[in-house]
Amino acid sequence: MSRILVALGGNAVKQAHEKGTYEEQFKNVRIACKHLLELVKKGHQLVITHGNGPQAGALLIQQETGISMGIPPQPLDIVNAMTQGQIGYMIQQTLTNYFIKEGINIPVATVATQVLVDKNDPDFKDPSKPVGPFYTKEEAEEVKKPNWIIKKVKPGEGKVYRRVVPSPDPIRIVDAEAIKRMVDAGIIVIASGGGGIPVIQREDGTYEGIEAVIDKDKAGERLAEVINPDIFLILTDVEKAYLNYGKPNQRPIDKMTLEEAKKYLEEGHFLAGSMGPKVLACIRFLEWGLKRGEKKRAIITALDKAVDAVEGRTGTHIVC
Ligand code: ADP
Ligand code: MG
Repeated sequence: MSRILVALGGNAVKQAHEKGTYEEQFKNVRIACKHLLELVKKGHQLVITHGNGPQAGALLIQQETGISMGIPPQPLDIVNAMTQGQIGYMIQQTLTNYFIKEGINIPVATVATQVLVDKNDPDFKDPSKPVGPFYTKEEAEEVKKPNWIIKKVKPGEGKVYRRVVPSPDPIRIVDAEAIKRMVDAGIIVIASGGGGIPVIQREDGTYEGIEAVIDKDKAGERLAEVINPDIFLILTDVEKAYLNYGKPNQRPIDKMTLEEAKKYLEEGHFLAGSMGPKVLACIRFLEWGLKRGEKKRAIITALDKAVDAVEGRTGTHIVC
């Protein structure tokens, strides 16, 4: 039996071709939770984190369209908190419903998690993460708020402009103690969803939210440092990470050592914003374990291969 931190990718809640209706999202969550149920039935203890890209994008559009009806738009820290509640609820209810049918008595709870970032992080000076709708140049000038930065995010003409926001590196989970106590009490905790609520710390030690978004895999690794899992399991839409991804000579990786992972990341095999942060998060987790004298394991695989990968039959395994 292992303690496993599971990071669910975007496809666990919304498929690329879907609109993201209530029914679609619950259907996907039921599939995702079925795989999590199998892990629970094998005796593993789960902690869950998840992405929120499409849901946060939709909420941002709703913030903008509400303005004309007199509803004040909410900033990015609030939007993250809303999606943590939204997606956490879906996972929480779905897992609980499976448990009721299976006679499993494990409580499930979502923690709206704050994640500390550095207000001097370089990404605040040159924001890199596109969020919300695409605009034409004219539309962009019209909707632009004084504090917004809009960049051309695709080559060509037309709707190629988007708001970009800072994506600072997560430093630590602010709500660590609450999460740790819940996990140690046997509760399945859903935490740090969508990378968590970005907050900065004031001189006096108190916290405040900041307009940014945090990568969910990098934040997931900080969550791992709180709950100390045996395995960090990143579930996405590919069964394995590849070398030379997208090239004729691409090759799936079954296993890589910490040193190999660092070398491949440096060589650019894993793209920024997708596989790159996943491999970086795995590297950080293994290095954190080694500092404590523990050999940790990280696995990157597809959602429907979760059990097979944990039992060593597939996935990309990153080992010490
Ligand atoms: P998630 O929502 O699960 O975080 P992402 O889209 O961020 O999903 O990351 C998974 C994607 O990473 C894959 O669908 C693939 O297109 C991309 N990717 C980039 N580099 C690699 C690589 N070296 N090997 C496999 N997939 C890669
Ligand atoms: Mg991603």
